[in-house]
Amino acid sequence: MDGNVVTGCIVFGTFMSFVAYQEKDSQWEWWQAAVFSCIILAGLEGLNASLPIVFGSFPKIPVRGKHLDEFEFRDKLFICFNKISAVPFMYHLTAICLLSPAIKVEAKDATYTNTVGAFVALFVVYDFFYSLFHRFLHLRSVYSLVHKHHHRQHAPTRGNSDAVNVHPFEFVMGEYNHLLAVYLVSPHMYAALAFITVGGVLASLNHTRANVVLPGAYDVKAHDLHHRIPQSNYGQYIMMWDHVMGSFRDYTKTVDARK
Ligand SMILES: [Zn+2]
Ligand SMILES: [Zn+2]
Repeated sequence: MDGNVVTGCIVFGTFMSFVAYQEKDSQWEWWQAAVFSCIILAGLEGLNASLPIVFGSFPKIPVRGKHLDEFEFRDKLFICFNKISAVPFMYHLTAICLLSPAIKVEAKDATYTNTVGAFVALFVVYDFFYSLFHRFLHLRSVYSLVHKHHHRQHAPTRGNSDAVNVHPFEFVMGEYNHLLAVYLVSPHMYAALAFITVGGVLASLNHTRANVVLPGAYDVKAHDLHHRIPQSNYGQYIMMWDHVMGSFRDYTKTVDARK
């Protein structure tokens, strides 16, 4: 059996054991957990289904790398696990928002600082850690163990499916990095939920051909270029830390670069 599949199963088992351990004192009935799971998974699928409707008319980024046409069993297994892992993640996000005294949840406690300001800070903090982690995954000694799977795709087109087609270890680490950012920034719960929702949309858009640009903040072409030239643009949402760490590569200046 493929080493990646074995590793994925081990990570899956360990992760679910951790979740089960965490939830042993839960007050939820099984059907409440089932309803919560269905709402999260249906919400994610609805969000993904809306992307082509909203962004389908945007100009297309040319395909320059080799497209991964067919998903193998391993791709489908990883995608399936990663999508399901959104359920315990959203449970833990909700829990940290409700249990942390530093995170406000009521509308009367919302301020510009803990909503708009915190929303921006969440992306800055998240991408600081993500850029370092992503850079680590590209180290020659660890690349083939985890991150190589995601880079089998040189020209993403499928949006969410190509975005979550990563090794489960990488996905769970990236997912819970959002929780770390929420813990460190302590935003209003509105900002935390907006961060997760907008983040999910941007991560999926990164793996479409839609040329979506938020000037000075976000550009689909930056991650698209990373799929062709992996030693560049390690950020997931913003390229701020790549500018700081010297790994930013401008798409328009390397339009013909191939890898
Ligand atoms: Zn990618
Ligand atoms: Zn990469």
